[in-house]
Amino acid sequence: FILLLTLVACSEPTSEKSAAEAKLITEQDTVFIGFLLDTLQDERWYNDKELFEEEVANLGGRVKTLAANGLDDVQISQAELLIEEGVDVLVVVPRDAAASAAIVELAHEADVKVISYDRLITNSDLDYYISFDNERVGELQAQEIVNNVDTGNFAYIGGAESDNNAILFRQGAMNILQPLIDSGDIELVYDQYTEGWNPDVAEENMLSALDEQGDDIDAVVAANDGTAGGVINALSTVGLDGEIPVSGQDAELNAVRRIVDGTQTMTVYKSINTLAVQAAEMAFKVAAGDDIPTETTVNNGQIDVPSILLEPITVTEDNIDETIIQDGYLNEEDIYTTP
Ligand code: BGC
Repeated sequence: FILLLTLVACSEPTSEKSAAEAKLITEQDTVFIGFLLDTLQDERWYNDKELFEEEVANLGGRVKTLAANGLDDVQISQAELLIEEGVDVLVVVPRDAAASAAIVELAHEADVKVISYDRLITNSDLDYYISFDNERVGELQAQEIVNNVDTGNFAYIGGAESDNNAILFRQGAMNILQPLIDSGDIELVYDQYTEGWNPDVAEENMLSALDEQGDDIDAVVAANDGTAGGVINALSTVGLDGEIPVSGQDAELNAVRRIVDGTQTMTVYKSINTLAVQAAEMAFKVAAGDDIPTETTVNNGQIDVPSILLEPITVTEDNIDETIIQDGYLNEEDIYTTP
């Protein structure tokens, strides 16, 4: 069957006929889901991949996962490829919120529905969205920092501006910081997104912030654990690591170790297992043509997208055990044993 599908897909890669034939063949087979990732660079996406693939297999379907290595064009070509191969539904972590609208258009032309996974595809006729309450993530980050230090010079080291989540994380952080900025208690002396969520870029930016301020920075809200790692490297060059609070997100192993060591203040734990399992179930229902009841909608600039938003959780050194360890996301030995 795979050979036949490949032959059909390869013989006329761009013609509508080959896509239709491939679709016909897969329709007689199990549910076939395409999973498009932006990158596998951050640790969390490996977990998304594993858990999503596992659940699709549990449900009796098959999945092909492709990662675009941070390139928009590659992600769009990968979508085309999977549509040609006859996927029943596409589940997409868009690299670029706006550019990936093209994926929705291509999919719909071939009668394939699209679920936006974790990150929203904006300005498109998107079918479903499943993620966390991302504005809340930003609030949790800033709140925990403010619980530690609520006066002085703050830096905001954001995510990739091309990722709608990064905008929401910043918005959430500002919900907490703005009143303190207005009252004059804190000053936001540095505020910068991080190209491609790249930790090296975050480190460079943090070095610039320190340089500009003569090292007079009292707290850093960093948008995820990758950027937090870059920030903490920069702080260590001037002996400020462990001296000022730094936030993060994703409960990456290295970040949780930094929390134990005292150089990072918090991370945000988002149950990737719940996200992956619910997304796989959703994809199956979509493939079967069922309507999916969702409690909420998120406007993507074009339509109100039926959405599921899961709850993020603050993790500090005080609740590592009853959150990420209890959930089986990371194990105690890995966290507390120095590598
Ligand atoms: C995700 C974060 C992740 C970041 C970088 C965001 O869209 O929500 O969990 O750290 O992308 O990959």
